[in-house]
Amino acid sequence: MMPAATIVGAGIAGLTAALALTQRGSVVTVLERAPELAEVGAGIQISPNAGRVLDALGLGPGLDAVSLRSRGVRLWNSAGKPVATLDFLRHRPDAPFRLIHRARLIEVLAEAISKAGVILRLGERVETLPDVGLLVGADGLQSRVRRELNGTEAPFFTGQTAWRAVIDDPDPQPEVWVDAFLGPGRHLVSYPLANNLRNIVAVEERAEWQEEGWSQPGDPAQLRSAFASFRGPVPGWLDAVHDAHLWGLFRHRVAPRWHDDNRVLIGDAAHPTLPFMAQGAAMAIEDAWALAACLGTDPDQAKALARYQVLRQDRCTRIVAMGDANARHYHLGGLRQRVAHAALRSASTFRPSFLLSRFDWIYDHDPIAGV
Ligand SMILES: Cc1cc2nc3c(=O)[nH]c(=O)nc-3n(C[C@H](O)[C@H](O)[C@H](O)COP(=O)(O)OP(=O)(O)OC[C@H]3O[C@@H](n4cnc5c(N)ncnc54)[C@H](O)[C@@H]3O)c2cc1C
Repeated sequence: MMPAATIVGAGIAGLTAALALTQRGSVVTVLERAPELAEVGAGIQISPNAGRVLDALGLGPGLDAVSLRSRGVRLWNSAGKPVATLDFLRHRPDAPFRLIHRARLIEVLAEAISKAGVILRLGERVETLPDVGLLVGADGLQSRVRRELNGTEAPFFTGQTAWRAVIDDPDPQPEVWVDAFLGPGRHLVSYPLANNLRNIVAVEERAEWQEEGWSQPGDPAQLRSAFASFRGPVPGWLDAVHDAHLWGLFRHRVAPRWHDDNRVLIGDAAHPTLPFMAQGAAMAIEDAWALAACLGTDPDQAKALARYQVLRQDRCTRIVAMGDANARHYHLGGLRQRVAHAALRSASTFRPSFLLSRFDWIYDHDPIAGV
């Protein structure tokens, strides 16, 4: 018999866990501090490892209607010259990468939990943790539940600030690619979204500190000036930016302790990550499935929670570390950049499957089979 669960946070982790737990018979209440599930965020990449979970939860058709399928990633230098092409679709034809606006994903999840009978209580900021049979901390970067389990920890500013913006893309290309332009001390990633929109994330190394969060306003003129030396389609995209948001990139450690006997962490609350592997949402979705599956297969809740941490912690730690390493690789300059780009160019031309297979352990992972 599945325990009743109270989930703190209605982000991607909390909503996916609510659906996964309900489908296994749990009675779920979600507490969210925001007064509504508003139109916040920008583009998110849902790689096949997370897509398998969303499909298993029955969300595939709903997501397909509001997302695009990406062919892969193209790397360019800041002058707009090609560096490497990672054709994930050719490498893995049956496993789509979906590109979606975060607000659309939240809508699909919110509709599904509402149909499944989950109780969603908006405008409920959890200050004192309720004493319930099972409390799931899906409360993101500044998790209250994590603090209870791990004490107070100070993240450190990485010296990188990210801009994000969504622009109109009136003339979308027939092939959908994620394009990354790499320059010294900065890089810019862009991809199309459904409804003729285009997502832009631009990361700049900066000395000064920015708030950690998703809704600091940014000045589009400053964004254009920071990337003024970039060529290819970048100037045209940046000219179309009317609203931008800024966030400071902080490094947090993966939580050492994910649970006690009746409280457990999922998503960013357990393992906040830099965005350079595009796996923040994907790990949250995998966690949600793993937690529900562990609870569904072991009637001893304490043992199920322990098994959940064992299943998830090493994988998430490895993904977070890979994102940290990319933060350095993306921003090389001078000779080091020329050497790195020459190696990538050569691998992309002569050994493309070698380049692609470096990511197999992430994208081939099947959370459904894994529990
Ligand atoms: C507003 C916002 C916009 C984002 N936009 C993007 C984006 O454009 N692209 C991208 O790749 N990633 C984005 N992310 C991050 C990405 O969604 C997460 O890294 C990933 O999905 C993990 O999600 P999560 O559910 O663990 O955490 P979050 O998405 O951070 O969700 C945590 C939720 O918990 C709620 N919460 C926190 N504390 C409490 C409390 N004490 N009581 C009640 N509720 C609480 C928060 O309001 C939030 O809804 C965004 C996150 C947020 C919050």
